[in-house]
Amino acid sequence: MPNPDLLNRSLAAVWHPCTQMKRHETLPLVPIARGAGVWLEDADGRRYLDAVSSWWVNLFGHCNPRINAALTDQLGKLEHVMLAGFTHEPVVELSERLRALAPAGLGHCFYASDGASATEIALKMSAHYWRNHGQPKKSQFISLANSYHGETLGALSVTDVALFKDAYGALVRQNATVPSPDWREAETGESAEDYALRCADALEAHLQRHHQEIAAFILEPLVQGAAGMAMYHPAYLRRARALCTQYGVHLIADEIAVGMGRTGTMFACEQATVRAASAAASLSVSDHPSTGSGRTETGVSPDFLLLSKGITGGYLPLSVVMTTDAVYQAFYADEVARGFLHSHSYTGNPLACRAALATLDIFAADDVIAANRTKAALFNQLAAPLRGHPKVRHFRNTGMIWAFEVETPHTDFAQRAFRLGLEHGLLLRPMGNTVYFMPPYVISADEMRHLLDGTLRVVEALA
Ligand SMILES: *Cc1c(COP(=O)(O)O)cnc(C)c1O
Repeated sequence: MPNPDLLNRSLAAVWHPCTQMKRHETLPLVPIARGAGVWLEDADGRRYLDAVSSWWVNLFGHCNPRINAALTDQLGKLEHVMLAGFTHEPVVELSERLRALAPAGLGHCFYASDGASATEIALKMSAHYWRNHGQPKKSQFISLANSYHGETLGALSVTDVALFKDAYGALVRQNATVPSPDWREAETGESAEDYALRCADALEAHLQRHHQEIAAFILEPLVQGAAGMAMYHPAYLRRARALCTQYGVHLIADEIAVGMGRTGTMFACEQATVRAASAAASLSVSDHPSTGSGRTETGVSPDFLLLSKGITGGYLPLSVVMTTDAVYQAFYADEVARGFLHSHSYTGNPLACRAALATLDIFAADDVIAANRTKAALFNQLAAPLRGHPKVRHFRNTGMIWAFEVETPHTDFAQRAFRLGLEHGLLLRPMGNTVYFMPPYVISADEMRHLLDGTLRVVEALA
């Protein structure tokens, strides 16, 4: 292992996130000295293909020249200014461009630095909206089973992870969960869509009984990331939007992981299309005409859209909560207390906004959404041996996300696969026996082969 001194200094001084530090008595840290494209490299030149985009944040590769140039330019102009009482070009331009790209109706951008803070903001904003509206009893939230919305205390209250509930349950207000439309849970013979609709019925039953206390329903559209890349049919989103409108409950779309092109469209909500005729019945449905299919279709618009992770291309912490005029207007008044009471020191940081603008520039210049469709098709072809492996179950794909379960006798499969992956020049980070790929979009055909060949060898060694 290179540079044992750096590893020891790290273990002595750095408390690593989401880590039982004692594990590192036997599991070495991986020191990274530089990155380029999909590759991370240590001081001795050992390279690892970053198959998880460094916790799902990187879109266009490490040390992307275009994002680097934008940041260098911004560094010479303005590194930071507080956003209360001040404004600057990067935050204004970013807000305008996000508004133009997002599902219709989301014209107001509130910024923070990380995903969990975006969740906190959406929850507070929703409950405060109902309070300003004279309905203070609407202060509960619901989320899907196996949901993940971040790890601060408010976000944990809508996160359904057993390990967190055990450790921190006493600190957190418990909110109800409704069944996840994860298609792996469907009965045999039941389609993903039928199962999604059955789960939507359960949502309806819950809303019918409890809507007077519920401020908002928060969900991860199409893919529940931390649940092990649980994928579900967009019919669920469509029904969820209609039901939330019907019962007067906000819909919060947490696209922190799935936004920015990850599911094959810029935002996952776009895939829950509603025909214009039926859309008329549902007030909050977007009126974006989609011209592709010949008939008028619209994606669903949530009341709150949360973005982070990929928004800066994986460069700097930035998150944004986008919301509607209706929400914004409920806070617009003479009294300070009716305003939204929330701030972070680095809200709207100019460097982070410039990285986000450079990221949007790349989407536009390279027609990334279309290019990814071709890449995903190629990836699926190359993945045939893995998909067909007798010990691989539930191989699935949405956009630029792939996942499957491995039938394995090893209870510590995730750690073993991580270590073996490193030996094959791969950064894999399985969750339990679920292996997933969320590669940077710049991955080439050769790099896909390297990733898939190495993973097949890891699976073969551990199945
Ligand atoms: C990562 C993630 C969060 C939390 O974001 P952080 O920046 O890690 O706080 C919230 N929701 C989803 C869906 C995520 O994937």
